[in-house]
Amino acid sequence: MRALTFLAQRFVAGDDISEALDAVRELNSDGLKVTLDNLGEDSLDRAHALAAAEENLTMLRRIAESGVDANISLKLTQLGLAFDEKLAAESLLRIVAEAERLKTFVRIDMEASQWTQKTLDLFYSIHEKHPGVGIVLQSNLRRTEADAKEAVARKVRVRLCKGAYREPVAVAFPDKKDVDASYDRCAAILAGAPIPALATHDDARIEAALKAFDAAGLVKSDYELQMLYGIRGKRARELREMGHTVRIYVPYGSHWFPYFYRRIRERKENLLFVVRNFFE
Ligand SMILES: Cc1cc2nc3c(=O)[nH]c(=O)nc-3n(C[C@H](O)[C@H](O)[C@H](O)COP(=O)(O)OP(=O)(O)OC[C@H]3O[C@@H](n4cnc5c(N)ncnc54)[C@H](O)[C@@H]3O)c2cc1C
Repeated sequence: MRALTFLAQRFVAGDDISEALDAVRELNSDGLKVTLDNLGEDSLDRAHALAAAEENLTMLRRIAESGVDANISLKLTQLGLAFDEKLAAESLLRIVAEAERLKTFVRIDMEASQWTQKTLDLFYSIHEKHPGVGIVLQSNLRRTEADAKEAVARKVRVRLCKGAYREPVAVAFPDKKDVDASYDRCAAILAGAPIPALATHDDARIEAALKAFDAAGLVKSDYELQMLYGIRGKRARELREMGHTVRIYVPYGSHWFPYFYRRIRERKENLLFVVRNFFE
């Protein structure tokens, strides 16, 4: 367990907000912006869901007090979406209102496809009055091109990723090449939305999207490139040096296992990193 905790440190910035803020300062000093995420998903009862909401409020206040360049990301199942939608909605509203007061931004991560519609419904119900909240779309889902068009029509901020969850063929493209092609199509659509964020470590996807953004007349301050903490840090810094706005997703907290497992599962190199370190 201790070895795994040590290994997870490559992808997770610490157990608590103070450790996470140290990582944020280091990234900021290299010109990289951050979105902070308190790890946790699938809260099973009211007490856990309320504690997660409090932690998100604390994050917002600690970010403001410390003056770092960061916003926050959160998951709706952490706020209780799975068992009490009203509770999740109330907590999200409190968090978004506090972010608004502190002049920052809240991104709602997208979870497995069983939550997509509920997440979008809750997001849109709050976004109308509170534009300081954004959403994530996943190019592996067949529905996402339509969702991207709706996001453009409703002028919402979208982070586009490929999708980290195993999904049934009925709702998702099983072949990587189709997920990639969908990513390129959705990125081109999202050129019409405010501050589209390209969340990928895939150079070919970034290149295709930047071409589409350029053709749509976007300049570097109109969009963000986003990567995960511990993955392709050198590339993130190169992109920053080329003048792009680059934001790193920095997770922290004790509930790191599901997040860590998704990183290991999606890439051989990440697994090799763990195995190599385990035996050293
Ligand atoms: C900022 C951010 C936020 C995210 N938020 C969500 C979310 O809300 N919901 C969700 O489902 N998923 C989210 N994800 C995860 C995402 O869906 C993918 O699971 C993850 O990013 C891997 O996909 P990829 O786009 O990097 O491409 P992949 O297809 O995994 O990789 C493509 C290429 O990227 C390069 N690459 C990837 N990893 C490495 C590495 N470790 N070292 C060197 N090169 C590498 C390689 O060239 C590789 O061929 C997020 C990802 C990011 C970056």
